[in-house]
Amino acid sequence: MHTQSSHVRRCHDFRWDDVPLLEYKAVDEAPFKDVTRQVLFQRDDMASELRYFEVAPGGHSTLERHAHVHAVIILRGRGRCLVGIEVTAIDTHDLITVPPMTWHQFRAADDAPLGFLCMVAHDRDRPQLPTADDLVQLRARPDVASFLDGAA
Ligand code: MN
Repeated sequence: MHTQSSHVRRCHDFRWDDVPLLEYKAVDEAPFKDVTRQVLFQRDDMASELRYFEVAPGGHSTLERHAHVHAVIILRGRGRCLVGIEVTAIDTHDLITVPPMTWHQFRAADDAPLGFLCMVAHDRDRPQLPTADDLVQLRARPDVASFLDGAA
């Protein structure tokens, strides 16, 4: 039995060996709060990539949409997500599918982080941010408006 392997990278407290802890995005690229990114699997000979994002308590990912799909599994903590016009409480091990061109955002609980694996296509389009008109439409729904404001 090997204890070390070039094929195995260990995890310690949601940090993986040889995986840099990155900013979620460039700060001037899009609005978000307290999110880190680790790219776990990314190869030119694989059609998909697997990343781990962690949103600190009270933080949130960018509100965005794009043609590519997300397959998400919550690995740590809990929070809420907006997918389309649905606001849903999410907990560890839940699976979330984000269909093409669907607005989405992830928010950690105030007292817990939200860590999740996110599978995406290797070749994918860039995210779009909501226009002022898009935000007016989304905010027409009171539950979506309070989600976007970070209210409970
Ligand atoms: Mn996205």
